[in-house]
Amino acid sequence: MKKTAIVTGGSRGIGYAIAKQLGLEGYNVAIFSSGGPEKYADALRELTGENIDWIYVQGSLDSSEDRKRLIDETVKAYGRVDVLVNNAGVAPLIRADLLDMTEESYDRVMGINLRGNMFLTQLAAKQMIAQEKTGPKKGTIINIGSCSAEVSSISRGEYCVSKAGISMLTKLYADRLAPEGILVHEIRPGVILTDMTSVVKAKYDALIEKGEFPIARWGTPQDVADAVSLFCSDKMTYTTGNYIDVDGGFHIRRL
Ligand code: NAD
Repeated sequence: MKKTAIVTGGSRGIGYAIAKQLGLEGYNVAIFSSGGPEKYADALRELTGENIDWIYVQGSLDSSEDRKRLIDETVKAYGRVDVLVNNAGVAPLIRADLLDMTEESYDRVMGINLRGNMFLTQLAAKQMIAQEKTGPKKGTIINIGSCSAEVSSISRGEYCVSKAGISMLTKLYADRLAPEGILVHEIRPGVILTDMTSVVKAKYDALIEKGEFPIARWGTPQDVADAVSLFCSDKMTYTTGNYIDVDGGFHIRRL
């Protein structure tokens, strides 16, 4: 039976690479994104060109109605949800010093990055539990966290707090869903070249040049998609609630 994956933020960047990778591996793909599909016409055409079966659901992760519609439309199109990749996420619109962070910015980032993922996962998990098991596991949920779960960046504190929250969300759902046969994993990218990081490209170019990253290059969306592919495979069935750094070794403390 053909499996189905939901990839939030699958219209561009890391999410698009994940959607394409899973599509190439034979999944039906439901892409959820706040932007209209016309903005991503070329990328979506590429998926069709690869014979990938996809639907596009436009909506915002911080809306409970949109989250419900995403699950409903996916089930309507494909009958089931086997994989949920919680990838969509935002940085603060303004990188302000921690002492100047506004409540509006905090609520926006937390509402999308943490609250949205908490409650979308709840819906997806209920759908997975209700389905017939077709392989060694009933479902896989992957949270795209960040090295910011541990690394302090005082000009985007709300983002760091949201990603630290994703780590506990991973553990909580891993604990709750293991008896249901659903495994939950977290991937923490380091610096990946996408639209999100384009505004700080010069800063990170300099850090890479200085040797801050043992593997001295930018990460690519495909680096993250490859890790997702591994976790989705039937090869990883006795691990849950863990995270993996996809960061060129940036997390290693060095003397
Ligand atoms: P991006 O900005 O290029 O893409 C983000 C995607 O999320 C887009 O498809 C966008 O439409 C979607 N999105 C944004 N707000 C949304 C909302 N409210 N509802 C639904 N969809 C929404 O970002 P990216 O660099 O590809 O990052 C993807 C994920 O990886 C994010 O969670 C980000 O925090 C995480 N991450 C990125 C990096 C990096 O270096 N790029 C590093 C660590 C973690």
